[in-house]
Amino acid sequence: PNIQYEQLRRKILNGVQEMWYFVSGELKKLQKQALALSPQLATRITRVLEEGVVHKRSLITDMDTLSEVDGYAAWREKEASDLSNLVQRRLDYLQNPEDCGTARKLVCNLNKGCGYGCQLHHLVYCFTVAYGTERTLILKSRGWRYRKAGWEEVFLPVSRTCTDPSGQTHSHWPGRKDTQVVELPIVDSLSPRPPYLPLAVPKDLAPRLARLHGDPIVWWIGQFLKFLLRPQEATSNMIQEASIKRDFKRPVVGVHIRRTDKVGTEAAFHPLEEYMAAVDEYYNLLEMKQKVDRRRVYLASDDPKVIAEARRKYPEYDILADPDVAKTAAVSTRYSDSSLNGIILDIHFLSLSDYLVCTFSSQVCRVAYEIMQTLYPDAARRFRSLDDVYYYGGQSSHIQVAVLPHHARDMNEMNLEQGDLIGIAGNHWDGYSKGKNLRTNQIGLYPSFKAQDRIETADFPTYPQVPL
Ligand code: GDP
Repeated sequence: PNIQYEQLRRKILNGVQEMWYFVSGELKKLQKQALALSPQLATRITRVLEEGVVHKRSLITDMDTLSEVDGYAAWREKEASDLSNLVQRRLDYLQNPEDCGTARKLVCNLNKGCGYGCQLHHLVYCFTVAYGTERTLILKSRGWRYRKAGWEEVFLPVSRTCTDPSGQTHSHWPGRKDTQVVELPIVDSLSPRPPYLPLAVPKDLAPRLARLHGDPIVWWIGQFLKFLLRPQEATSNMIQEASIKRDFKRPVVGVHIRRTDKVGTEAAFHPLEEYMAAVDEYYNLLEMKQKVDRRRVYLASDDPKVIAEARRKYPEYDILADPDVAKTAAVSTRYSDSSLNGIILDIHFLSLSDYLVCTFSSQVCRVAYEIMQTLYPDAARRFRSLDDVYYYGGQSSHIQVAVLPHHARDMNEMNLEQGDLIGIAGNHWDGYSKGKNLRTNQIGLYPSFKAQDRIETADFPTYPQVPL
């Protein structure tokens, strides 16, 4: 398929979704006003909402079907697997130099003072810089807060041939090109910043990724996780046992509810009902195409109470969850072996779900979403975040391009000319996004469908030693 076709197909899908966010959001506001004035009008609006959402589902189903019958489904599968194999072979090449004694190295210390999702993102950041500077990543993980013995007890070592951090010459970042061993700080204190940081994808892969995938950076991050999270045998066994014990089956919607220490500090509280409304909508859509016997949810949370609440309030659902969640997810015992097993399993099952409902402010859910990308040609749309759009901690600015002009209708909105660059702050999931117009420096709301993400690229090495 040509790139225009693939991008247009995704744009229409996105447009249908955004139109419904807008129309339903506005109608719900009108309905509130109507309730006080005219019950009849309110009822009428309810009917429009009820029929309108069916209309939306029908359009989305048709677009999904289009991608199944347009003759490119096999191509998408093959292209995704070719691209993934290429990147995995490059990582394997980078990580296994013939002579570790002379190899250029980048040293990364796993123990960033934060949770597992945050630490994985720290590790992936190190790895992208290693790939960008053609340095073998050396992981220091002894004394890891989640597992004292270190990373290698849980996952395969990041190298078979080179794990020794010593060398002829040492330096802190950035060092010189011929410095053998460079130590990388956490991204928050990285200076100077290399061009390889997210949201950049390698220029040599960008044209293929732009055609294949709805959000190339998430695919790119997913590839590093795919390499890093290859399990040790014991981990693999643990996953298999849990899969049987929890009766994990598809279709299933993965729901992650981040509470406890996050709420009120880094994220707002969202009631269970909000998550479940998104789950319901996923199944309503699915039922347009297939019969669903049981509505299944895989529910992960750091708050055991929310799992009990879900089982009490939603008896018509099968709620799958960690049976030991009270022990594995408590804040008081967070950095321990059982807590590590708990979060590995929850992220695993969330990533294997058909669809994710969560808050992207949590790194747990973003990691699951990133891993999910390694399981489909394009899983960019398989999520509903109740707060942020996708981001990567420490990323360079997230830029959108206006594809249509916009005339501000009130003080909160901003003007757009086609081609304007916008630094997007967030999507409000009501038809509008908020951002800064980089031409006018105006900050305000704009209709989400009038702008599209710009794909960021950087001149990464192209690894000609690894055959295409
Ligand atoms: P964030 O704080 O939500 O952005 O994510 P982090 O991964 O950095 O830190 C949160 C930590 O809380 C996780 O690493 C887990 O240790 C724990 N946690 C959060 N949510 C869950 C969950 O759904 N299941 C389990 N088992 N642990 C969780």
